[in-house]
Amino acid sequence: MLMIPLCDVTAQFDELCEDITSAIEAVARGGRYILGPNVKAFESEIAEFTGCAHAAGVGSGTDALHLALRAIGIGPGDEVITSPFTFIATTEAILMVGATPVFTDIDPRTFNIDASQIEAKITPQTKAILPVHIYGQPCDMDTIMALAGKHNLHVVEDCAQAIGAKWKGKPVGSFGDAGCFSFFPSKNLGAVGDGGMVTSNSAEVYERVEMLRRHGGRVKYHHEEPGLNSRLDELQAAILRVKFGRLNDWNQQRYTNACRYNELLGLQSGITCPAEISADGYAVATSPDVPSTDLTTVYHQFTVQVDNRDQIQQSLTQAGVGSAVYYPVPLHLQKVHQNLGYSAGSFPVAEQACTSCLSLPMFPHMTDEQIQTSATALIEAVNAAAEGTSRVVRNNAA
Ligand SMILES: *Cc1c(COP(=O)(O)O)cnc(C)c1O
Repeated sequence: MLMIPLCDVTAQFDELCEDITSAIEAVARGGRYILGPNVKAFESEIAEFTGCAHAAGVGSGTDALHLALRAIGIGPGDEVITSPFTFIATTEAILMVGATPVFTDIDPRTFNIDASQIEAKITPQTKAILPVHIYGQPCDMDTIMALAGKHNLHVVEDCAQAIGAKWKGKPVGSFGDAGCFSFFPSKNLGAVGDGGMVTSNSAEVYERVEMLRRHGGRVKYHHEEPGLNSRLDELQAAILRVKFGRLNDWNQQRYTNACRYNELLGLQSGITCPAEISADGYAVATSPDVPSTDLTTVYHQFTVQVDNRDQIQQSLTQAGVGSAVYYPVPLHLQKVHQNLGYSAGSFPVAEQACTSCLSLPMFPHMTDEQIQTSATALIEAVNAAAEGTSRVVRNNAA
């Protein structure tokens, strides 16, 4: 059994057990189970939180991406530029609307799309850029929005891992035509099941998502186009509203945990800690006193890079420390995308990240002792793997 899990979602429930239980009971007794008052109130809360005029609750983060792309009119023949280092849902949504994903390699220090390489991928077919704020860190939205303006492109942000993150003081999800959020249980704001949200400053985008999520009609039983059944569940919305009250504190706790990891791991050779882009360039997080409202990165994951990753992960498991590989295979090398014509070597930085990335235990309720145990186990595993390698080299030389 693992002593320290990668993520502990029930700790959030334990903290708020009474309030969540009564919220569930109130929905059950109230009898308004679909698109009721909790969905509406939660949509306003998220709109305000992200600084957007509108928000529409949908069935999942994947549906949020799919419906946002459809709402802005992306379809067959269109190209959408995105990162190969993300969860499959990002490109699944592009395929679902009939468009073609076009990948751009990532920045090795932040794991986010390398904005400086995007312009070279733009063709007359390009209709949108889909930045993914991976692991909770915002992409370089200055460069992305400038490119979108210059080439007249739409921007849809994948904010599934980044609720509460800000690029230069502005919340993710408020830059592009639409922001897409996920409330999958392990996300920074997690439901007790699936859920998602589309944020937008465009009334047109909002209204179209709102219509598509309930069978493509503005008026009941009058359908304008094929939609789907993808509504944020009222029960999930009620639970999410209770948890939302704690989101800023929880995100700050994640940030504090990241600072602590950096302190314990930063000077170790063989371990690269995740960098943030700051006003002064790249830096690792070190000041745990940043107010929760000023957080840039919200550390959905704390992901280091190491050589001999698989062996190190095995040692961590043996030591009772949870870890995960997000992601073992870049999207351009997935079977589902083989017809796009990419091959090994197409995006060397993303491929390297897939071989070396390792996410450590990260959740708001971690104790300092758990962080220390995880960090120590990693250092020992890295040292043991390095010794093993040098032994092999010595034996070969002998
Ligand atoms: C989780 C996730 C999604 C999909 O969200 P679901 O709610 O699971 O459908 C999309 N993109 C990224 C980057 C994610 O991490």
